[in-house]
Amino acid sequence: MKKIFIVLIALVFYSTSVAAVEKFKFKYNLHENLPKKWVTEFENIMDIVQEVMPINENTNHWVKNNMKLMNMKQGYGMDIYAWKRTKNPFPEKRANMKGSCICETNSPAPWVQLDLNPKDLADSRNKIRTYSVIVHEYFHVYQRALSHDKFSDRNSPKWLFEGGAKVLQEIYARQYYKKYLLKSDLQEQKRWSIKKVSKETNLYEKYNTSPQKNGFDSNYAGSAFIVLALVNELKKNNISEQEAFELVFREFWIQRGKKPRGWNWQPAFQNTFGMTVTEFYKRLSKYKRKDLKKILPNKSLKIQDIFS
Ligand SMILES: [Zn+2]
Repeated sequence: MKKIFIVLIALVFYSTSVAAVEKFKFKYNLHENLPKKWVTEFENIMDIVQEVMPINENTNHWVKNNMKLMNMKQGYGMDIYAWKRTKNPFPEKRANMKGSCICETNSPAPWVQLDLNPKDLADSRNKIRTYSVIVHEYFHVYQRALSHDKFSDRNSPKWLFEGGAKVLQEIYARQYYKKYLLKSDLQEQKRWSIKKVSKETNLYEKYNTSPQKNGFDSNYAGSAFIVLALVNELKKNNISEQEAFELVFREFWIQRGKKPRGWNWQPAFQNTFGMTVTEFYKRLSKYKRKDLKKILPNKSLKIQDIFS
């Protein structure tokens, strides 16, 4: 009996200590002009992404300190604002918010904003973009957490963090909505140039040098192609597709967190992928536009398999 009692006490302690892991908390600021259906989807998606890619006090010491600071300052980790496109949606919070982003990452309290195009909300195909953008922006918060806030283009290549977010949001959309915009987005000639991607990849390392074709690395198609080529090269080294995506979506950011701030992200790249940046760019230089079909993610790939 005594033994059972001790076991029980140990179990109680164990379960309370597990339950006590504090999560990174978001505050949702959802505009009243949003359709109810979208709000429900938003809440579902946030539950799923936080379960699959958790951010909590055990993530690393940077997250733990950041959570302490933000909880003291505002009682939670980060604001998320969402609205159907309108002028000045939250005048009492911040003036003239525009566009979707994780915004002002250099400020003490960055936030996420989702600016939804009414035309997309009304269109059965593009509606998926208003859902997958939630995954995209949450993923930036995750990259920020793992890398100790070293994911902006002063610290990491833009093609890797934006291309990664684009590929991940499309894998998610395929899995949960059976809609796949990655192939069609990347097939559009006007969105990116294979010559620039394969021969001048370094331009895609920064926002302000990223080649512009009808807008700014339109929908991050060029960056997404580079990410898919990287995964393809990793697969040639006997790494499974799931593992390769895990390296791109998670391990790189953990490795990046361990190195100092600044442009010197190359050692983290080499530690993660087992090849130098120069070597990868050389391999990428051989890619043709038609290779896209061969390097798209497997149709049955699930985000849970990547992050498990
Ligand atoms: Zn982004």
